[in-house]
Amino acid sequence: MPNPKRKFSRSRTRKKRTHDRHKLAVLHLSECPRCHQRRRPHRVCGNCGYYDGEPVIKL
Ligand SMILES: [Zn+2]
Repeated sequence: MPNPKRKFSRSRTRKKRTHDRHKLAVLHLSECPRCHQRRRPHRVCGNCGYYDGEPVIKL
């Protein structure tokens, strides 16, 4: 049975990727107010383990 090589044409895949939702995520960074390391916003700081002034990760 003949089968298409791919589900979507390369053009269609690329067009799809130009749409915002499919764009590669731009890494947004904000500064941790405690240790001033760059961290992802709304995430626990990977350096000091604090979020919103509270220790979240017990060391
Ligand atoms: Zn921190």
